[in-house]
Amino acid sequence: MNQTAIDNPYLLLTPGPLTTSQAVREAMLRDWCTWDRDYNELVQAIRVKLVRLATARFEDFTTVLMQGSGTFSVEAVLSSVIPTEGKLLVLTNGAYGDRMVQMARVHGIATEVIDFGEVTPVAAGPVEELLEKDPAITHIAVVHSETTTGMLNPIADIGETAKRYGKIFIVDAMSSFGGVPMDIADLHIDYLISSANKCIQGVPGFGFIIARTTELAATKGRARTLSLDLYDQWETMEKHNGKWRFTSPTHVVRAFYQALVELEAEGGMEKRYERYSRNQQILAEGMERLGFRSLLSKESQSPFITSFYYPDQEAFTFQAFYERLKKAGFVIYPGKISQADTFRIGNIGEVYPEDMERLLKAIAENRFW
Ligand SMILES: *Cc1c(COP(=O)(O)O)cnc(C)c1O
Repeated sequence: MNQTAIDNPYLLLTPGPLTTSQAVREAMLRDWCTWDRDYNELVQAIRVKLVRLATARFEDFTTVLMQGSGTFSVEAVLSSVIPTEGKLLVLTNGAYGDRMVQMARVHGIATEVIDFGEVTPVAAGPVEELLEKDPAITHIAVVHSETTTGMLNPIADIGETAKRYGKIFIVDAMSSFGGVPMDIADLHIDYLISSANKCIQGVPGFGFIIARTTELAATKGRARTLSLDLYDQWETMEKHNGKWRFTSPTHVVRAFYQALVELEAEGGMEKRYERYSRNQQILAEGMERLGFRSLLSKESQSPFITSFYYPDQEAFTFQAFYERLKKAGFVIYPGKISQADTFRIGNIGEVYPEDMERLLKAIAENRFW
């Protein structure tokens, strides 16, 4: 049972920042010196844990922590690893894929886009077709869990194709890493990006990149910015035993360590995935019983966040619905797609099946207008 209600006025049913445990929040109650050994050892312990979480072949991978929200880490990768003569292929089916395209344009990176629309998962067929036609493509980027809709993209097929054509594979696994079993070596991922405040259940303030060491080591001098220079940040962390180049979010880092310990205590990614899946299943089935329809088919639905169509009642407004649920102790999320009116409900964080049952009860009591 969650103990978060103690100081939280409502449960965050959002894709992050999300409701964290009492212990994660308490871990922030002391101050740290960024160049002291105690703190740097904490950073190194986190780096080791992250790589081991990501793959059984941990000796081939390394990790870089980066200040800022998750977007900063995505931009750190795109702006730091693609050489001037390189070309990026972005697969998109939502706002986060589109954001990668936008970043590439800002940095003047040659970019191809395959847009799958908003409700169709990415697929390897069109990727292969384009790779045949355009051998100049060097890097492929995709979002794993497209938080815009709740879509879980089939990245294994894309990774297999990228590998077969010798391309570098970049995955934004922001809202999935830690919440679904995966081995990035098996998925042929060269750069995986995620952040502190999603499935690991930390608080916001930094992101991280898990990279194939041989690839990252070859990127020196490619960065198009100073502060998001991935290679430089990595080199500093490696050479100076966990030191960040510039001021790091010390309290957030300490809280993240606690969150990683709690992930292990829960039983790792498999167990967390089971809890999230159970949450999502209770939510989706319960909403259906109440007459709400999900945007996505069950096959593409992630266990993290679900989009629902507005109900048919004319009097429905998202704002009023939101306010009533907030009063009842739940904060939900607006929709983000253009083709239909939807809202979203997340089920990650310190959120349990009994919370989903309580939510459904609150929705049942507040669904008539
Ligand atoms: C949360 C998220 C991001 C990063 O968003 P920030 O607001 O910068 O933390 C990127 N991609 C996906 C898929 C996300 O869910």
